Amino acid sequence: MAYLVSARKWRPQKFEDVVGQEHVRVTLQNALREGKVAHAYLFAGPRGVGKTTVARLLAKALNCEHGPTPVPCNSCPQCTAIAQGSSMDVLEIDGASNRGIDEVRELRESAQLAPAGGRYKVYIIDEVHMLTTPAFNALLKTLEEPPAHVVFILATTEPHQVPPTIRSRCQTFNFRRLSVGEITGRLSFISEEEGVEAEEEALVLIARKAEGSMRDAQSLWDQAVAFSEGKVSLRSVQEMLGLVEGDLFFRLGEAILKGDVRSGLEVVEEAFDRGVSLGAFADGLTEHFRNLLAVKVGAPPDLPEEELARLREQAEAGSEEDLARLLVMSSDVASELPRSPAPRLRLEVGVVRMAKSLSSVKVEEVLARLGRLEQGLKEGTSVVRRPPKDLEELKGRWEEVADLVARRSPRLGAFLREGRPRRLEDGVLELAFGSTFHRDAVNRQRRVVEEVLKEVFGTKLRVRVLKEEVEGEQYEDERMLKKVLELFDGEVVQG
Ligand SMILES: [Zn+2]
Repeated sequence: MAYLVSARKWRPQKFEDVVGQEHVRVTLQNALREGKVAHAYLFAGPRGVGKTTVARLLAKALNCEHGPTPVPCNSCPQCTAIAQGSSMDVLEIDGASNRGIDEVRELRESAQLAPAGGRYKVYIIDEVHMLTTPAFNALLKTLEEPPAHVVFILATTEPHQVPPTIRSRCQTFNFRRLSVGEITGRLSFISEEEGVEAEEEALVLIARKAEGSMRDAQSLWDQAVAFSEGKVSLRSVQEMLGLVEGDLFFRLGEAILKGDVRSGLEVVEEAFDRGVSLGAFADGLTEHFRNLLAVKVGAPPDLPEEELARLREQAEAGSEEDLARLLVMSSDVASELPRSPAPRLRLEVGVVRMAKSLSSVKVEEVLARLGRLEQGLKEGTSVVRRPPKDLEELKGRWEEVADLVARRSPRLGAFLREGRPRRLEDGVLELAFGSTFHRDAVNRQRRVVEEVLKEVFGTKLRVRVLKEEVEGEQYEDERMLKKVLELFDGEVVQG
C-alpha cells in the first residue's frame, strides 16, 4: 500500500505538467507575464480535474521570490512553503465545512492584514457554492473593495449555485473533464516513474472508469497497484473493479436484440456463477447499450477501434429507438437493483422484458391475450364495452387500454406500461408505478387515460396513481417471470 499517495505525490508543480487545461494555463501565464493579476478568480469544473492544483500554482506564481512570474522557481522559500502547504500567505479553505458567516468574517478581518512574507495573500476557497447566503454577502463585501494585496481563488463544481453578484466580480475559468487519452498518458508516465509495470489496456480501463477525473484515476491506479502485487494487468483491474469481461455484454446484447430469452438468461446465470456483482453487471449492461446507441447515432465513445467495430456490428441489429428503449430499460433495472429484495430475479425479469420488447410478440400482449382468452372461456361471451366487474377482468384488457392510449400519445402509452393496475374500487382505478417519474408523468395526463378507459369499458373510471411498494414488486416480478417463461418456453398459446 506504499502508493496510496500518488495523487498528492504527483500533483503537478509546474503549469506545464497540468494535463488537459491548456486554455486555463495559457491565459493565466500570459496574464502573469503581463502583470495583469485579477483580485478574484472562479475556477469552475468537475471534481478532480485540477482546479486546486492550478490554484496553488497560481499562488506560487504570485508569491515566488522571482515573481510574479509565469514560471515559479519551485526552490525559493515561498515556493517551497506553498508546495508543502505551510505558507502563511496561502490559505486553503474548504467551503463545505467553513460555510457560515463567522468563518467568512474571520477571513475578511485577516484579509486586511498584510501578507507575512509573500507579495500576496491568496485565499483558495474550495467548494465555494456551499457557503451560506450571509457568508456569500460577507464575501461579496470583500470582493467589492479588495485590499490590494489579496487574491481570491474560488473553486466550485457547481458554478450556477454561486450567486451572480459573486460571479460577476470574478474572472471565470472553466475546467473541463479530461479525455481517456489524457488520463492514460499521465498514468503511463506515473507508472514508468514509479517503476510499475502496467498494461496499456489496464490503464485505459482505469481512465474510462474515472470519467474524466484525474484524481479518481490516480486513486484507482493506487488501488490497482496494491491489488495486483506486481504487474497491473487488464484482468486484475477488471477483477478489482468487479467488472465482467465485455464479452458477456456482447453476448447478452446479442440475445436481447434477437429476442432470445433463453440465451439471455444463460448469460445472467454465467455472470452469477462467476461471482460477478449483480449491480456491476447491470451497470455494465447499461453502459453497453449506451455505447451501442452512441455508435448508432454516429457519436462513438472513446474506445479502442476493435471494440467500436464490434459495437457497430451489433448496433445493426436494432433501430435507434430500440437501442434507446433498451438503454432506458437497463438503466431502470440498474437503479432499482440495489433496493430490490430479490436482485437476481429483478435482473432476470429485466432481461426477459428487454428481449421481448423488440420481438414481434410483446409480453404484455401475450399476457393480455391470455387474460382475454381465460375471460372468454369462463364466460363464453364477448367482453366489449362492459364495466369491469373486478380488477382481474380489467387487467385482462389492460393491454388494450395501453395500446389505445399509446395511439393518442406514444410517450404516455410507454409510461403507462411502466405501471400496473393495483386496485379497482368504487369506480377508482389505482395504478402503481415503480418510479415516481413515470407515476408523475401519467398523473399529469390521467384525463387521457380516463377517456380511454371510458371508451373501452363504457363507464367512467377515475384514475389514481401511486408509488409501488417494494414488497409488492417482488411478488409481481415473480409472477411475471413465471408466466413469461411458461408462455415462451412452454406450449403455444392460441390467440
Ligand atoms: Zn520561487
